[in-house]
Amino acid sequence: MVSRVTDAISTDCDVAVIGAGIAGLAAATTLSASGRRVVVLEKSRGIGGRMATRRIGGAVCDHGAQHFAVKGRAFGSIVAEAEAAGAVTSWCDLFPAAKTAAGPAVDPLDKAGHARWRGVKGMTDLPKRLAAQLSVPVRTQTRVAAVAAEGERLSCRFDDGDVLTAAAVIVTVPVPQAIDLFTAGGFTPPQADAAGWEQLAGVAYDPCFSLMLVLDRPSLLPPPGGLEVEAGPLAWIADNQQKGISAVPSLTIQARGDFSREHFENDQAEVTRLLTEAAAAWIDGDPATSVTDHSLQRWKFAFPVEPLKQPMVALSHSPPVVCCGDAFGGGRVEAAASSGLAVARWLERLPA
Ligand SMILES: Cc1cc2nc3c(=O)[nH]c(=O)nc-3n(C[C@H](O)[C@H](O)[C@H](O)COP(=O)(O)OP(=O)(O)OC[C@H]3O[C@@H](n4cnc5c(N)ncnc54)[C@H](O)[C@@H]3O)c2cc1C
Repeated sequence: MVSRVTDAISTDCDVAVIGAGIAGLAAATTLSASGRRVVVLEKSRGIGGRMATRRIGGAVCDHGAQHFAVKGRAFGSIVAEAEAAGAVTSWCDLFPAAKTAAGPAVDPLDKAGHARWRGVKGMTDLPKRLAAQLSVPVRTQTRVAAVAAEGERLSCRFDDGDVLTAAAVIVTVPVPQAIDLFTAGGFTPPQADAAGWEQLAGVAYDPCFSLMLVLDRPSLLPPPGGLEVEAGPLAWIADNQQKGISAVPSLTIQARGDFSREHFENDQAEVTRLLTEAAAAWIDGDPATSVTDHSLQRWKFAFPVEPLKQPMVALSHSPPVVCCGDAFGGGRVEAAASSGLAVARWLERLPA
């Protein structure tokens, strides 16, 4: 299948990867290293997906994933390489917890610790490190609108109507959005495996508000600058200055899933007010004056509620169409990366 050639950008490849989060980049770098022509398509301006870092008012804030664990060997070797390159570092082994956002913070002495990793400049550092290893740069600001099968080839149609054809497609976007892509391209059962389709249809996500506050002085959060909150509207508070990514004091405040769901469509100024009020015990001074800037991020698909107990779902073997990401395995950064790596191994084993 030959597609319209509009410029020097390739219109055909071996593997199209939709999404430049950690799952897509883990799959893409592995396949690219083994000689496949891989093109990664990303709708946003930046890469990293939910491993997200933003600059506001001179501060640097991680507003998606805050840290990650490393338990498996495959992800471990990616992280070891990134550590040697100065892209990631260990933050701490344990965070204190608080029964309410108003504290007091309690060291969870009864829990076993394990290294919590972070990007040296922010959580996007690890995805950026992987993207730098690709032979073809990630195509950012390229939103895929549909995935379709055309004989033994597959096509990814973009918002602007352009098309990339591929021998295989890896879809790493949150599952409800993946289903939309397949539906738009007519890639539904019987072309797609009906059992796999059913598994995808059952995947749901919790939303999450992530509020970033820039402060005029250091916060009152105890070291090491991360606090798990066990009640109230908050789930987590991080001090980006103590974490080591921001020269300017700033907090990232994450809401619980039930609060985020209940208030998802509400006025954002009101949500900002409620979350700031809930975290006020950790802000030095009156938040009305000591908060100098703020930004509220609304993640619609933040955490898979019940991740599938398998690393991927293949909707078709020939041509290969496969879904992966954090909904396949464990709902966290490491699970997403491991899922991407599993897909790469699966594709490498398929006959060419
Ligand atoms: C607020 C928050 C806090 C979190 N905290 C932690 C934590 O502390 N530790 C932890 O381990 N995990 C945490 N997580 C979860 C972790 O961020 C995710 O599990 C992981 O980053 C998911 O990676 P992924 O590659 O599967 O998906 P994503 O990172 O979502 O990547 C998917 C990519 O696809 C792109 N995309 C979507 N649609 C299209 C399209 N149509 N065309 C092209 N591109 C598209 C998106 O822009 C995105 O870049 C957190 C998540 C959130 C939201």
